[in-house]
Amino acid sequence: MSTVYLIGAGPGDPGLLTIRAKELIETCDVVVYDYLANKEFLKYARADAEIIYVGKKGGDHTLPQDQINQLIIDKAKAGKSVARLKGGDPYVFGRGGEEAEELVAAGVAFEVVPGVTAGVAAPAYAGIPVTHRDFTTSVCFITGHEDPTKEESGNNWEVYAKSNSTLVFYMGVKNLPMIAGNLIKGGRDKNTPVALVRWGTRANQQSMVSTLEHVAAEAEKRQFAAPSIIIVGGVCSLHDKLAWFEKKPLLGKGVVVTRAREQASELTNVLKHMGARVYEFPTISVEPLDDYAEVEQAILGLGAVDWLVFTSVNGVKHFWNQLGETGLDTRALGGCSVAAIGPATADELKKRGVTPDFIPAKYVAEDVVAGLLALGVAGKNVLIPRAKAAREVLPEQLAKAGAHVRVLPVYETKLSQQDPTEIVDALATGKIQAITFASSSTVDNFFDLVPLEALRMYPGVKLACIGPVTAKTLTRYGFRAHIQPEDYTIPALAEALGKEL
Ligand code: SAH
Repeated sequence: MSTVYLIGAGPGDPGLLTIRAKELIETCDVVVYDYLANKEFLKYARADAEIIYVGKKGGDHTLPQDQINQLIIDKAKAGKSVARLKGGDPYVFGRGGEEAEELVAAGVAFEVVPGVTAGVAAPAYAGIPVTHRDFTTSVCFITGHEDPTKEESGNNWEVYAKSNSTLVFYMGVKNLPMIAGNLIKGGRDKNTPVALVRWGTRANQQSMVSTLEHVAAEAEKRQFAAPSIIIVGGVCSLHDKLAWFEKKPLLGKGVVVTRAREQASELTNVLKHMGARVYEFPTISVEPLDDYAEVEQAILGLGAVDWLVFTSVNGVKHFWNQLGETGLDTRALGGCSVAAIGPATADELKKRGVTPDFIPAKYVAEDVVAGLLALGVAGKNVLIPRAKAAREVLPEQLAKAGAHVRVLPVYETKLSQQDPTEIVDALATGKIQAITFASSSTVDNFFDLVPLEALRMYPGVKLACIGPVTAKTLTRYGFRAHIQPEDYTIPALAEALGKEL
C-alpha cells in the first residue's frame, strides 16, 4: 500500500507551488485535483500518471466528498501513490482535515504538504499585508460560507467586530451583505476599509477596496464573484501604496511566442515577469545537420581564417559542439578575430571564453557589414557559421566589399509540426492580444501552421516583430507589424509590447 499526499497547490500563480509539491506531482502514480488547483501543474505529472478531476466549483461537486475519500483510499490500497492537489493550503478550508481522518480510519499512510493559502497570498498580491504593527495584532481566517438564514452562526460576530483583528473571509462573496451587516451590528466602525481580491495571484486578478458600509453594494455593482478573498481591517488602506502585481504592464495579456523551443525561454521569461500569459507555439525547431564532415574540415582549416562571424546563438552552440567533436577547443580560434551579430550571440561567445572583437550597434546584417568593413575586412578570409538556409545579405555584401567569404552551415531550422488548435481557439476566445515574431522564418512557418483567415478575423491582435526584416516578411502575408522595437533585441521587443498592449 502506498502513501497519499495531501498537497497545497497554492493560490494559482505557478511560482507559488512548493518544491516538495512539485516533486510529488512528478513522481506519484495518481494525481487527483480540485477546481481551484491550477491545472498548469498537471504538466509536471508523469506521462503515465492517472489524472483525476474531482471538481468542487462552489457547492457543485463533480464528485461528492465521500466518493473523493473513497477514490483516494481505493487508489492507495491498490498500491498507488496519490498526489491529492488542493487549492491554497489543504488544511485551510480545504477539507484536508476530513480527508486525513478518513485515511487514518482506512489505515492508509498519508503526509501533508502545506501550501500558500489564498487568504495570505491574494491580499499580498493586492498590496495588503494581513498583519502590520500600525493596524492590528492578529489575523482571523473565517469561512464566509454560512447559511445566512441559520439561527445560530458558528461565527461569533461580536468577537470579530470588537477585535482589532484583520478578518480574512474565504467563500464569502455571496454573503457579503450578511458579513458586513453583522460586523457593523457587532460594533465595527462602518468606515473600516474592506478589500476584495478575485482570482488572486493569477493573471486575471482583480481587486477593489471599499468600506464595511458600502462594500456589498459596490461589489455587486462591479460584479465581484467567487473565488474571492474578503479582507476587513485597517491594513486594506495600504492597497493603494503597496499594490504591485496589478501594475505589471502585461498583466492578463495573452502573448504568443513563436521562437524555437530551445530559444523561447528568454522572451517567455521576460513576458511572464511583466505579467503576460504566454502561449509558447514554437514554429521552428533547431536541428543538427545529418553530416558534419564539411564543418570538421572547416574547423581544421581555422588557421587560415581571419574573421569568424557568428549570426546566432545556435550558430555558436553548434560550432562549439563540433569543435569538441573534432577534439579541439576554444584555443583553435586563437588566430581569428570574432564578430557577433547581437548581444545574445555575444553572450553565448563570452560563455565560451571569447569576447567578440566586434558587435554592431544595430543588430542586422547590413550594419555588421559596415562595421566589419571599417575594421578592414576587405581582402580577408571570413567564415560565417550559421543556419543552413539563411539570408544572403551578409555574405553577399561582405564578398562585394572584397572579403573572401565562406558560409558554413552548422545547424538547420525546420518547420515544427505544431498543432495550432490551442492558438486558434485562444484567438477565437479573445485570449490573445499579441503574437511575437523574432525572425522571418517564424513568420513563414507560423502561416504554414495557422490559417491566414484565423488571424484576419481578429484585427485587434497586435503583431510584434523584432526588426524591419521580419516586419517585411509579415507584409508578404498581407499584415503589418504593429509593434517594432527601436533596438532589435528580445528585451526591447518585450518592452515595446509592455508599452503598446
Ligand atoms: N484551501 C484553500 C481555500 C479553499 S476554500 C486555500 O488555502 O486557499 C475556497 C475559497 O478560497 C474561495 O471561495 C475563495 O474565497 C478562496 N480562494 C481560493 N483561491 C483564491 C484565489 N486565487 N483568489 C481569491 N480567493 C481564492
